[in-house]
Amino acid sequence: MSLAIITDPSKLLEVVNQQKAAGRQVGLVPTMGALHAGHLSLVQQSTLGTDFTVVTIFVNPTQFAPTEDLDQYPRDLQRDVELLSGYGVDVVFAPSVNSMYPAGASTSIVPPEVARPLEGELRPGHFEGVATIVLKLFNLVPADVAFFGQKDFQQTRVIADMIRDLNIPIDMKVCPIVREADGLALSSRNAYLTPEQRQQATAISQSLFHIKTLVAEGQTDASELLKAALQILADAAIGQIDYVSLVDPQTLTPVTQVSDNTIALAAAYVGSTRLIDNLFLN
Ligand code: AMP
Repeated sequence: MSLAIITDPSKLLEVVNQQKAAGRQVGLVPTMGALHAGHLSLVQQSTLGTDFTVVTIFVNPTQFAPTEDLDQYPRDLQRDVELLSGYGVDVVFAPSVNSMYPAGASTSIVPPEVARPLEGELRPGHFEGVATIVLKLFNLVPADVAFFGQKDFQQTRVIADMIRDLNIPIDMKVCPIVREADGLALSSRNAYLTPEQRQQATAISQSLFHIKTLVAEGQTDASELLKAALQILADAAIGQIDYVSLVDPQTLTPVTQVSDNTIALAAAYVGSTRLIDNLFLN
């Protein structure tokens, strides 16, 4: 079957319901476009594990603060569609902002507790916007499986808890972070970086991998580990570090001693570009 591009939300629901009625397993891959190999790894998991894959491309305005990069966010639907047509995707859903948020739309989701720290503190309202658009997409694509990336680890925790708390009948799969050869996590926002900043940005993943190395060598004291990570970021002249944090992956509360089950998360600005990354320490 060839790739269909759908912009109308009710048409999407109709097409997906037809597939489900025919007994096909449906996979959903929500994205904001400007696709890269990280997104495509999610797409591959979906086409491999389900019979009918819907990729959504929507730069969701409600998850951006007024000071953030909504207007500059890279958009190239034609390129994205060309990429996806080589990956066995069945539907690309690329709605307008108006069709997703018609005048008068005023309902939103209060995100779960795990939305509070880290990104939640630094980006007030972000996870409210994320939870709301993801629930809308779940309603428009009543999929069997939805695929998300560990790259946005806190987002996966927010969505997992929303699925549990609201009894949403969808299975969620979290896919590993795809990185450049030098460790930088792929991100649509990497396109903002100058060649010099691109070099500087590797310090973010390096700081996390350094924590992991120290843990493998026997260091478990969180404050020592964080000090070492912050030093790497300082050495790279990373100006604004929003956080480097060692937390329990379930609750996202900070730990004082790391265990097999600790995750390290970082957010920092390279120039005016805010990047995030994370790494399990086991
Ligand atoms: P975005 O377009 O940034 O909203 O991302 C769409 C989905 O792709 C999210 O579930 C992300 O976590 C995932 N994703 C983004 N970057 C990567 C990456 N480098 N590796 C794996 N998944 C990713």
